[in-house]
Amino acid sequence: MFGKILIANRGEIALRVQRACRELGIRTVAVHSEPDRDLMHVKLADESVCIGPAPSDRSYLNIPAVIAAAEVTDAEAIHPGYGFLSENADFAERVEKSGFAFIGPRPETIRLMGDKIAAKQAMLKAGVPCVPGSDGPLPDAPEAIKALAREIGYPVILKAAGGGGGRGMRVVHTEAHLMNAVNLTRAEAARAFGNPVLYMEKFLETPRHIEFQVLCDAHGHCIHLGERDCSTQRRHQKVIEEAPAPGIRPEQRERIGAAVVQACELMGYRGAGTIEFLYEPVSETFYFIEMNTRVQVEHPVTEAITGIDIVKAQIRVAAGLPLGLRQADVVLRGHALECRINAEDPERFVPSPGQVTAWHAPGGPGIRVDSHLYAGYRVPPFYDSMIAKVIAHGGSREEALQRMRSALRETSIEGIQSNIALHRRILDDGQFAAGSVHIHYLEALLDL
Ligand code: ADP
Repeated sequence: MFGKILIANRGEIALRVQRACRELGIRTVAVHSEPDRDLMHVKLADESVCIGPAPSDRSYLNIPAVIAAAEVTDAEAIHPGYGFLSENADFAERVEKSGFAFIGPRPETIRLMGDKIAAKQAMLKAGVPCVPGSDGPLPDAPEAIKALAREIGYPVILKAAGGGGGRGMRVVHTEAHLMNAVNLTRAEAARAFGNPVLYMEKFLETPRHIEFQVLCDAHGHCIHLGERDCSTQRRHQKVIEEAPAPGIRPEQRERIGAAVVQACELMGYRGAGTIEFLYEPVSETFYFIEMNTRVQVEHPVTEAITGIDIVKAQIRVAAGLPLGLRQADVVLRGHALECRINAEDPERFVPSPGQVTAWHAPGGPGIRVDSHLYAGYRVPPFYDSMIAKVIAHGGSREEALQRMRSALRETSIEGIQSNIALHRRILDDGQFAAGSVHIHYLEALLDL
């Protein structure tokens, strides 16, 4: 096992990794930007290194600064968290070439899954169902593109092969708009991702977002931890997640779970990963859209129902230890929900940074709070506005919902604004309470 790990992230996930290291008896190095020196995990870490000023590209995304911090502190491994450098194959490669362990998949795997066309092809090969589409890069000739769209059937969605974070996508409803949309999306993709390659998919109108969690060791052994439903989204940003996905039957879980495990074994996957699907309830069909090669924000709901610590597992397999779990050891118990608490204006959804004057976290049976907040902490304006995750676990979905409603009533944040009122509204909405909402549900609710 490692003796010392560098945490290349900030906020709640850096604290989450810090806690896992503590439990495993591993010393930690926190790297942080100038305004982040008061972060909770920086205070708790054994050592800390300031790696640059506030802008992410000069601190958390500054590869040489992160590597240099690992060198001067004699860290053995680097945990990238989510966001920032977590899915940067060049970073993973630099980490390994510099003699450190990267707590994540091999760089080649990150690169493969970062190219969404290559990722789809790898999934198809393993028998994972994908959204019908171009199954490769869009051709250049307009006639060929039009023929493809006709064959797939409108509406179609254009997507950038190198895209991510909900950007580089465009829905097209008629042939009259197709070529203009292709040209616009290509130009955007070239600018945003340095890669103009596009592909096309059937646009699914009202699917649910359901994703499978996998864990694999470096010796070719993979298991899945069931699925999460993350359909409650606004502008492609998840707001509430839950596990298991309401209404998914054990045989569906087993079938898709087996396919994703096979895909991971075929590509020699290592560590934790998430395979995302769009799910059409009417036909009960899963369609792969992409794989995330890192720990996800919403991993705690899976931890709640499986009792498996995903971050500790990531660290163990990065150290070369076997998973020590068989598929049959994974038993789902009860139901869990997670609400992402953001520092934001509840009406306009713009960030609300500033000083937290008072903070009271909820508690009680089945409640977990992952948050770096404390009274007096100043939420900086430079980064993601998520300040806490409240996770409620219960024997049934109804019990988890009740516990979450009660937990949110207990939660109190003063000094900054938050989206707690929005969460309360969703939890009290009949449609959400009934389960199985689709990905446009929240935006429809907000327009009412
Ligand atoms: P990103 O990597 O940018 O998050 P994804 O491929 O995961 O891109 O897609 C993000 C979101 O875009 C999905 O959660 C879904 O809401 C929407 N989307 C993507 N592909 C389709 C599709 N074929 N049909 C309908 N919606 C889609």
